[in-house]
Amino acid sequence: MSASACIFCQIARIPTTTRLLYQDELVVAFQDINPSAFRHYLVIPIEHIPTVKNLQRGQQHYTLVTHMLNVGKSLLQQDAAQSNEHRFGFHQPPFNSVDHLHLHCLALPFIPCWKFIKYSSLGPLGGFIQAETLLEKLKPSQFSQI
Ligand SMILES: [Zn+2]
Ligand SMILES: [Zn+2]
Repeated sequence: MSASACIFCQIARIPTTTRLLYQDELVVAFQDINPSAFRHYLVIPIEHIPTVKNLQRGQQHYTLVTHMLNVGKSLLQQDAAQSNEHRFGFHQPPFNSVDHLHLHCLALPFIPCWKFIKYSSLGPLGGFIQAETLLEKLKPSQFSQI
């Protein structure tokens, strides 16, 4: 799929009816169209990166994903401070819904509660990777030049 046909590229680059919760030069955030929890936001890079499989270990993607996570954390902190668990992560292909990298930011509880299966790394599908786990994989080795 070309970037111009990508729904998330359109949200990130073209003014649409989607209300952005946050935007800067690297990322935008908006509500999941089909929320699975008390609060359910998506943070996406403006650059078209298809999936977590396209991320590489090193400073560039490590910094990008760290930034996405920080944006998600502060949005949930602001909108769902009363929730007892915030969860952040990505679906790995073939379990991702849209081929444009998106960080799921969930303030629990899940609604309806069985939705937890979709956002659990221990679920039967095993397709969900927590943001912190992904960051460990992307972390530049301490010997590489920054
Ligand atoms: Zn895209
Ligand atoms: Zn997804």
